[in-house]
This record gives sequence, C-alpha cells and structure tokens, in this order.
Amino acid sequence: MILKVLGSGSAGNCYIFENDSEAMILEAGVKFSEVKKVLDFNIRKIVCCLITHEHKDHAGHINEFLNDGITVYASKGTINNTLIKGFRLPLILKAGTLLRIGGFKIIPFEAKHDAAEPVGFFINHEETGNFIFATDTYYIPCVFSNLSNILIEANYRQDILEENTRNGSISLAQRNRTLQSHMSYETCLKTLLANDLSKVNNIVLIHLSNDNSNALDFQEGIRKETGKTTHIADKGIVIELNKTPF
Ligand SMILES: [Zn+2]
Repeated sequence: MILKVLGSGSAGNCYIFENDSEAMILEAGVKFSEVKKVLDFNIRKIVCCLITHEHKDHAGHINEFLNDGITVYASKGTINNTLIKGFRLPLILKAGTLLRIGGFKIIPFEAKHDAAEPVGFFINHEETGNFIFATDTYYIPCVFSNLSNILIEANYRQDILEENTRNGSISLAQRNRTLQSHMSYETCLKTLLANDLSKVNNIVLIHLSNDNSNALDFQEGIRKETGKTTHIADKGIVIELNKTPF
C-alpha cells in the first residue's frame, strides 16, 4: 500500500491510500481534479472518501467528490455543518461503529477539536496492518493495539507558539484556539509513547502549522524518542505503508 499526500495543513488536506486495485481517500480538502491526476484518472478504484470534520481545509471540496460519484462518509455533525450542493449526500459514520469498505475496516473515534462532531480513524487493511489517522485533535482519548503505522498531528510546539504570541506574529485568540483544537508536538510524543510501538514501521507527522512548528526538529525528535522511521507529510510525498518493513 502506498500513501500519497496531496496536502497536509491549513492550506488543504488530502491523503490517498492506494494499491493496485483500490484507493481510499481521507479528507476532501483539495480539488477533486488533483486527486484524479494523482490516480492517473482511474477514479473507479476509489472505494470511498472519509472526512474527519467540516472545516474547509478538510471538507471544502466535498461537493466535487460527491458530484463525481465518490462515496463520501462523514459524521452527522459534519454533514449538518457542510453545505451540500447537488442530490448526492454523504453517508453517515459514527465513532465506535465499524465500517467495511473494500479491503479496509475502519473504526472512527472521537477527536477533540472545535468542530461539531470530529473524528479520527483506526483502520485495518491486510497490507498495512492496523494504522491510525489522527488530525485536528488536541488529545486522543484512547490507545490502540497492534499498530503497524501511525499518522498523527504534530501542529505546534509550545515554545514556538508562545514566542509567536509574544512577538505578535499570531494573536492571543489564535494562540488560545490552537491550544484547544490542535495537537502539540509534546502531546504527540506522549500519545505515541502511550501506545505499543513495537510493531510500528512508520510514523507520519501531519498537519504541521506553518508558523508554529519546525519540521526538521519534529522529525528528528520523534525519530530519536521512538526509534521509528518518521516522516513529515509534505505535499507530494509518497510513502510505502505496509505492515512489514520490507
Ligand atoms: Zn479543523
């Protein structure tokens, strides 16, 4: 299984998990035309698009996906807070309720974010093993078993955020919102260490803030503390995401 990152952060989020026969998309925060290009226009292999919450950088292009016939899943709260144009509607997913779509098994879990009903995903596929996708959540209220791969938000580091607030490059309101809606590097590391990482092949750090993060420091810090291969989800990056390292 290959992970292709089309965008990760406030400019727009979209991740494709693709093998020879299937592609699952997480987030509709980039134009559907970009997804088509990355899939060489083979959109019939798309099994679904899952959306974590209604904010524009995650759901802003949902109507393009729906109108092109893609099966989109989101929570009821997300759907109620998204302007759906056209006759196709997203299907409803619920935290704690298993979905089986193509070769993927998905259990959404509750995220902690300033949105109506945000979720993250615990996913299994026979090629990837178990993996989590956690973005836009200041905290993850559970641990996971038998993880092979982890995609987790590392939005800001406390000292960079405080310095940017002091020097005025971000407002106090922005600082406070960040604390109550996004995951810090420090919490990301604690969350990783709270889980059994013995079988983890890849940690992918996602949704880094442009202003309040330091990608190289984050990558090196997480790699050192966990001993695991660590990636930054830069736009355009392609990562092999299998349950065995080779
Ligand atoms: Zn958000």
